[in-house]
Amino acid sequence: DERMVLQFQITLYGDDERLVMARDITRLHRLEEMRRDFVANVSHELRTPLTVLAGYLETYVTYAEQLPPRLAQGLSRMQEQTTRMQNLVNDLLLLSRLEIDRGGEDHLPLAMATLLEEVRRDAEALAAGRQQIRVELEEKRRLLGSDSEIHSALSNLASNAVRYTPEGSHIVLRWKPHPKGACLEVEDDGEGIDPVHIPRLTERFYRVDKGRSSESGGTGLGLAIVKHVLLRHDAYLEIESHPGQGALFRCVFPASRLMATELATG
Ligand code: ADP
Repeated sequence: DERMVLQFQITLYGDDERLVMARDITRLHRLEEMRRDFVANVSHELRTPLTVLAGYLETYVTYAEQLPPRLAQGLSRMQEQTTRMQNLVNDLLLLSRLEIDRGGEDHLPLAMATLLEEVRRDAEALAAGRQQIRVELEEKRRLLGSDSEIHSALSNLASNAVRYTPEGSHIVLRWKPHPKGACLEVEDDGEGIDPVHIPRLTERFYRVDKGRSSESGGTGLGLAIVKHVLLRHDAYLEIESHPGQGALFRCVFPASRLMATELATG
């Protein structure tokens, strides 16, 4: 608890001169820790009452036909909003857990074909026929990682592709070689994103179009979750997009994170 946190900045001037600046960020660091713990605790505590609320609403909705239309309509709004709140609380909890512990305990060679297929199936359910989703496997090596974390990163990207592209769009989930190692890509041919927004997309609650995004059912935390999952896998996110030409989200994993299939399957 008495740890001191220092931030160093080293500036090089020519060959033999350097300026070293140290800043004591102990207090800032502690505050940041307190914020994370607080968010994690609050989200955890909110889960139980929300589950109870959702349970009652579920029961009442089955009697909706016996209610005056306006009441029935209100009930269904309440149910929608409760689901939204549950998603938000779950995402907040997931995000703060990703920030708090270092991770890495559950890293194993992942079954990439199964993983991509599962994510495709869920995205297809969300798309309900509006978009076409396919999987491309061009890389044979497996990723060493946390199955649940990679799963949630990829499904966040896939559900964004479904939610932010118009009917008739095509979405590809891809595992392929990359100069640095290998990458997981989610590509769509939808409306794309104006490049000015790209640097800020992974910030919590950052949205390009506030109105449309909150209607879309997202929590505003999807890409922040993706970023933190990748950090825990020594990986990074690249976003390429031009308005009107779709968007490409690429998760780049270093070679040290890959394992030959022969070894993994034994
Ligand atoms: P949410 O989707 O809940 O708003 P995210 O962090 O997942 O939050 O995404 C941030 C924003 O990035 C979205 O609100 C949306 O504006 C934009 N976005 C994400 N994926 C895409 C995509 N495939 N095409 C266009 N815009 C996207």
